[in-house]
Amino acid sequence: MQTAARRADEILVGNVLALDDAGTRAEAVAVAAGRILATGSRQAMLELKGPATAVRDFPGCTLIPGFNDTHAHMDAFGARLMRPTLEGCGSIAEVLAKIRDLAKDTPKGQWIATMPVGVAPYYFDAPTTLAEGRLPNRQELDSAAPDHPVYIPSPGGYWGEPPCHAAMNSLALQKNGIDRHTRATSPSTVIEFDAQGEPTGNFVEKSYVNLLEPDLLPAVPRFSYQQRRDGIRKAIAHYHAVGTTSIYEGHGSAPDVIAAYRELREQGELTVRTSLVASPRWRSLEEAESDMRDGMPLLKGRGFGDEWLRVAGVFIAHGGDPNVQKVQIKDLRYVSWSGFTQQANTTSEYEALCRLAGRYNLRVNTIVSDKLAVVAPVIARLAKEFPIAERRWVLEHVSRATPEDLRILRATGVPVTLIPGQYIWKHATPFMKLPTEEQDCLSPAKALYELGVRVSAGTDAVPCNPLFCLWSMTTRKERHTGQVLGPGGRVSNEVALRLLTREGAYLSFEENVKGQLAPGHFADIAVLGGDVLATTGDALLDLRCRATMAGGRWVHGIRA
Ligand SMILES: [Zn+2]
Repeated sequence: MQTAARRADEILVGNVLALDDAGTRAEAVAVAAGRILATGSRQAMLELKGPATAVRDFPGCTLIPGFNDTHAHMDAFGARLMRPTLEGCGSIAEVLAKIRDLAKDTPKGQWIATMPVGVAPYYFDAPTTLAEGRLPNRQELDSAAPDHPVYIPSPGGYWGEPPCHAAMNSLALQKNGIDRHTRATSPSTVIEFDAQGEPTGNFVEKSYVNLLEPDLLPAVPRFSYQQRRDGIRKAIAHYHAVGTTSIYEGHGSAPDVIAAYRELREQGELTVRTSLVASPRWRSLEEAESDMRDGMPLLKGRGFGDEWLRVAGVFIAHGGDPNVQKVQIKDLRYVSWSGFTQQANTTSEYEALCRLAGRYNLRVNTIVSDKLAVVAPVIARLAKEFPIAERRWVLEHVSRATPEDLRILRATGVPVTLIPGQYIWKHATPFMKLPTEEQDCLSPAKALYELGVRVSAGTDAVPCNPLFCLWSMTTRKERHTGQVLGPGGRVSNEVALRLLTREGAYLSFEENVKGQLAPGHFADIAVLGGDVLATTGDALLDLRCRATMAGGRWVHGIRA
């Protein structure tokens, strides 16, 4: 324990896991002026008690650094809270009753746009969650709300699993100009027609990216700036409720999303420490160069902002569906649920864009998915030209790695983020037949951590609970079969916790101020209701976050 002249504002007693280099465990942690003052024995911490110090006992609980969700989608999570839910509807009649109710409260002619049919956050198996096994058609929706355009969106493949289904009534079809002659840009979007060749009001999306809205539905409501801001405001409470105190959004964020965060920061409402990356709107390499050279002065180097909101660097996609690009290019400002502009770049375009970013000192964030074997050699070449590790370029969403990929990652020093829930649990079907040693390197937390690569983990917001991510990393169970994928890739609970807390701080250059319960670090603390190191298997899913502190302030579970 350090001797400190100042008194603690709070002393929290419980099983303290500092997650520092020494692996400190303690009986209590003392907090002052928004920072960790000290950790140590209960007795030693009580010596820091002054007349105004609050002492709180959390018997049986584990106190860890607040979670840093490095793939959080918090704005998208917030957008989902802004539309009426159809959860609980078990039949078309129940959906129609809900639409009828909404119509009563909505002026005639105005849109009724709901959430998808099914159960959040995945909406798996919709529409078979309805008794009829299908969504209502236009005539049925007309019967509930003839005077309002009605739209039931698809959840999109990234929340759930394609194919995904959407529906609208006759007025909505008419407002979007959809008739018997309409065809989608992408073959993955299906407009259903009846025997007479007229649209039924039902749509199917077979791709992961939601293309129906940007391609065919110009008239459905877009998220307004106010909705984005209010959505994030609501989402903050949900993220705190699972112990999250920091997020890293490496997907890129559109200008209005960044603006919404900025406003919340200015109002003092942004209590999740947020790191954002710009989502560019380039149509060509020339536009990209002019933007990087002159248009992004604040995003260069470590970017700008403060301890609550920081914006730095750009997102540059590798690969991507050219159909998505074709649709997005029609309106680069249209970002819908995702909150960022979709890109598609070939490997050579990707390398050229990255080289420009290197030249103009913009750090690059890239979603790698299953293309690490292609991206890693590009990164190795660029690392010879620019200090990309020092600038903290980030390779995100890595699904699997070969020994050669791992070698390159280690040699270049580029940090990596993983989405274990997606590649081990949710969308693991393509990997089920791989040999076991290759499965061990699926969402390769263990291999990367043991190599000393800076590796952190994110939730993808489905669900936003980091403990689900911890469960996935430690059990490695596939969703449909319960099969353990790559048992050799399991990490200990403590390593999983490190990936969900301190390792993410590196991405935003904050490893010296957050992510550990160490003196001088931000007092960002999650109080987990149980012994998180001793809990194993599915019991991890029953652990709850009892309370959350951000910057020395209680933001969940305890009234300040
Ligand atoms: Zn994502």
